[in-house]
Amino acid sequence: MGKEIPHLVIPENLKPHDARFGSGPSKIRATQLAALVASNPDYLGTSHRQKTVRDVVQSLREGLTQLFNLPNDYEVVIGNGGATAFWDAAIFGFIKENAQFLSFGEFSNKFALAAQNAPFLKNIEIIKSEPGDAPDFQPNDSFDVYATAHNETSTGVMKEVKRPKAQGLHLVDATSAAGGSMVDAKEFDVYYFAPQKSFGSDGGFFTALMSPAAIERISEIKATKRWIPPFLDLSIALENSRLQQTYNTPSLATIHMFENQVSWFNQQGGLTWSSNKSKQSTDYLYDWAEKRDFAYPFVEKKELRSTVVAAINFIDSIDANDISAILRANGIVDTDSYKKIGKNQIRIGAFPSVELSDIQALTNCVDWIVEHL
Ligand SMILES: *Cc1c(COP(=O)(O)O)cnc(C)c1O
Repeated sequence: MGKEIPHLVIPENLKPHDARFGSGPSKIRATQLAALVASNPDYLGTSHRQKTVRDVVQSLREGLTQLFNLPNDYEVVIGNGGATAFWDAAIFGFIKENAQFLSFGEFSNKFALAAQNAPFLKNIEIIKSEPGDAPDFQPNDSFDVYATAHNETSTGVMKEVKRPKAQGLHLVDATSAAGGSMVDAKEFDVYYFAPQKSFGSDGGFFTALMSPAAIERISEIKATKRWIPPFLDLSIALENSRLQQTYNTPSLATIHMFENQVSWFNQQGGLTWSSNKSKQSTDYLYDWAEKRDFAYPFVEKKELRSTVVAAINFIDSIDANDISAILRANGIVDTDSYKKIGKNQIRIGAFPSVELSDIQALTNCVDWIVEHL
């Protein structure tokens, strides 16, 4: 507090063309926004229950089915409230009594704690690991749900999506991973996310790709007459999604930008293309850090290093918060670490919308700052 940040002016020619490196909300492409502006007045400001908007929702749902190569009996369920609201919906709608949670950072831990505090559930087991690592499920027949994150955005740890060898639904929080890394639909029952990260849209909206077992579980729990607040009732979300709408009014702008991004991915070569684009950026970042004597990748195990969000640590003599603050003062934003994790690091969102050339410019800027500190 009150610490002086060195006043350094980065030369203009070193700076990235687009200087947004946040892990969410993240960069929105100019063409996404241009398409949104062009949608006024026919789409924006019109009823979400009429054909114009429902056609865009349908295109979004079909585009996601294509992007994730979903089996015929999987469904795309949408609703309001983002990933955090979906956690509460999942607690009401998917967990019968007992669930096992992997916790390896702020997001995965929040969902686990929310479930643990639900009075109508019995045994919520949380398997934890330190930030920078990831635990494994310890499956047994007592759990009806297994929950994890695909990418722990707070630490830059990515865990391959693999079903635990047991009965029980596999729920995967893919809020930053979805669209920026490969996944096989057969490995999950629910793959859910909000669109302000790899999909470069805005927040407040959830998407959940659901297997037939997940859809079956929603009606099974509904039949028990458990009290479920309507806003969090997945049977209502499912019913509305099938009609290409949401239970209550959504942000039409969010849906439009989201649909535009999904179409863009599909046109460019699908999930393989978008995942590779992110991976090129993060590979470059980890490689850059390994070659510097003042920095190193935070995640030690290479197979756990995120392909969408790279956490880069600095040696003790350099304060990573200073680096982020100097970058911000120069208009290069949101490289800050996740504060609660408390590490001497910067964190870079390298989602598919972000250009490798801008990531390279960013590292040139960091090199320049370290030289001039
Ligand atoms: C960002 C994020 C969330 C929270 O998303 P909201 O839309 O803000 O609720 C949850 N989980 C993960 C893995 C995230 O990256």
